[in-house]
This record gives sequence, C-alpha cells and structure tokens, in this order.
Amino acid sequence: MRQLIAALFLLFASSLFAADAPQQLVTIRAARLIDGRGGKVVSPAVIVVRGNKIESIGGAVPTGAQVIDLGDMTLLPGLIDAHVHTLLQGDITSDDYDVQLFKESLAYRALRATKALKIALNHGFTTVRDVETEGAMYTDVDLKRAINNGVIDGPRMVVSTRAMSVTGGYGPSGYSPEVTFPMGVQIVDGADAARKAVREQIAHGADWIKVYADRSYFVAKDGTLSSTPTFTAEEMKAIVEEAHRLRHKVAAHAMARPGIENAINAGVDSIEHGIAIPDDLLDVMVAHGTYLCPTLTVTEFVAPGRVAAGGAIWGKIPAFHHDSFARALKRGVKIAFGTDAGGFAWDAINEAREFGYEVQFGMTPMQAIQTATRNAAEMLDMSDRIGTIETGKLADIVAVPGDPLADITAMERVAFVMKDGAVYKRP
Ligand SMILES: [Zn+2]
Repeated sequence: MRQLIAALFLLFASSLFAADAPQQLVTIRAARLIDGRGGKVVSPAVIVVRGNKIESIGGAVPTGAQVIDLGDMTLLPGLIDAHVHTLLQGDITSDDYDVQLFKESLAYRALRATKALKIALNHGFTTVRDVETEGAMYTDVDLKRAINNGVIDGPRMVVSTRAMSVTGGYGPSGYSPEVTFPMGVQIVDGADAARKAVREQIAHGADWIKVYADRSYFVAKDGTLSSTPTFTAEEMKAIVEEAHRLRHKVAAHAMARPGIENAINAGVDSIEHGIAIPDDLLDVMVAHGTYLCPTLTVTEFVAPGRVAAGGAIWGKIPAFHHDSFARALKRGVKIAFGTDAGGFAWDAINEAREFGYEVQFGMTPMQAIQTATRNAAEMLDMSDRIGTIETGKLADIVAVPGDPLADITAMERVAFVMKDGAVYKRP
C-alpha cells in the first residue's frame, strides 16, 4: 500500500511538473512562407512555435518569445526523402556493394549511417523513409531508436528493415556455391515463406515492407524497357495481403512492365524508381492511388559509372526514366519525393538536387516542393503531424536563401533546420 501511495504521489508530482514546465516559445521570421499546401506564397512569414508544435502562423510576436530572424529567406515544411538507404554508402558497381557487406561489420556500418543521417538533417530532411538496410539486418530499427531517444541527431525515420527478393534475385552474386555470405535482402521463396517474412520483419520493427519486384533489365524488340519479374504473382500477392492485414504498407522496387504490373496488380502502395511505366499502367496507378517515388537523382548519378563498368543498359535508362516521369506527371499519378541517397555516396552530392531534376523533367517548382512535403507525408500516413506548416502540426521547419520558386537550386542550400521544435542548423 505504501508503495502504491508513493507511486500515486510521483504520478501527481510529475503531472504537476509537466503542467508547470514552461514550453519554449520561439518566433521565426522570414521574407516568405511556402506552407506545403500549394497555395499562395505568404510574405512576410511569421511562425510561432511552442515546444515541438506550431502554435500560430502570421500573427503578432508573443511577448517573451525568442525571435529567430531569417531575413530574405523562405520558410518551408521540413523536407521528406521517402527513398534512402542510410546503411549504404554508394554502390555504383557490385564491388562497391560487396566490400560493404563483406568487410564492414554491422557496428561500423551503423557508425557510417549516423554520419549519413546527420548529412540528411543538415540538408533539411527532417523525415526519411529508409527502404532497406542492404544486408545490415535490423540496424535501421536501432538507428531510429537512437534518434528517438536523443542518442544521435537525425531525421525522423520510417524503416523497412531487410526487404525481400528470391533465390538468385539479389546480390552479392557470382561467388562460388561453396561459400556462404551475407545477402543484401531476406531471400523468400514461396507464398508461405513470404507471409512468414512479412510477419518476422514487422515483429522486429519494420514500418513498411519493401520488395524487389523486378531485375535483369533489357530493351525488348519493340524498343520498350523490359525485365524479369522477381516474384510470382502468388508470392507478391501473399506479401501485400499479409502486410496490409497487419496494417503496414508495401513499397516495390519496379523499373519495367513485368515488375510494375506484378506489383500494382498485387496492390502495393508505392512504385520505387518506375523507370519505364507504360501509359496503361500509369492509369492503373491513378485508379489505385499508387504512389510513384521516382528517384531521378540516383539514375543521373550512377548511370555513367555503371556503363563504364560494363552495364551497357544503363546508357539507355536515363532517357526511359525522364520520359516515364513526364508521362506519370501528365496523367496525374501521385508523386512522392525520393532520391535513393546511399545508392550514391551521401557526401558525394546533396540529395536535394532531386528538386532540380523534377523541374527539369516537367514539374513546376511548387509541384516539386510538394512532392517532398505534403505528398510524401500523405504517402507515409503522417500528414496529421508533418508535411505542411499548419497550426498544431509538429514544428519541422526549414529555410532556404531567396525564393526557391524563382531558383529551385535554392533547395540545395538549406540554411536553417528545425525538427520537432529543436534547432539543428541556423545561418
Ligand atoms: Zn533504393
């Protein structure tokens, strides 16, 4: 009984403390605000943040508030990169890839990932969806936990752990059959094994399930890009059914018709890369509400290196990708920002270059910004908390110099980063 009273007292005292604790009050001022909803630019911009939430927009500066004056900058919602690999540090060739899996311990790979996460946050990405650990098992779950517990700085993470492919469908490959080595994904053969793998990954912390829907790309006689679908229709359906039954979404790496068709017929929630999506399948994506996460940056970056390493098909892939992206945009497919950072080295280029590619291949600057704010938040089912600057949402706010609608490359010069009400970068 005495223990119970003590516990009740502690509970009472802590609730008193919580009510009394002054929540930090910050006012951010800048020349412009793009709130992520696609409406007019607000000028000048005033945002009041209390604790980790946006308290008001456009009002007077409350007394006692700390004022952050960002001058001629534009405020935007914290950016979302919905396709990254924090545990990968570039894999232009299979040698780059195999070295990371064979010569780096998981501990070392986790340490390298902490640097990748810092880079992402520094570039204004306050949320990332990590779409597989490339042989690093469930390390993404640990990285997410370390960030949530304040052990390391990084974006809010949505993780998909190991991903899935089939026997012979993923690297490392080309080694003697007598040698056993770590695989880049969880190998799954058959519908029952697929269901078990979904349950296992979710049990260990996966927020999303990631599948590799196709591989072995080639140009068919009719000039279209083609591929080998990785899974049978039955396996793919089993994965999606089981993930959805457990209220988790599925992202499918799919580059050409055979893989894309298999994935969208099974009901996946996002197509990753979508290098060459035929018009009829774009229409199915619109009807199903399937997202496209285009990752234009990785294509531009890795194609030349892969051609040089003997992958001639990569000489043709950029042109397919540009055309497919433009048609997807025209037909009204929902597009969420993703770069495949990690597929290129994190410190090699700023993943915000994706905005420039989106504009180059047909989007307005405002549309491009929305892919990394409202659209990505909607795809992640997080739009009640992030993706737009609105009263009551989490204070994820970034700023770029000048006006990104006039010069989209301003998105590569993020100078102020606030995540969850805490400032990580300021000019
Ligand atoms: Zn990827």
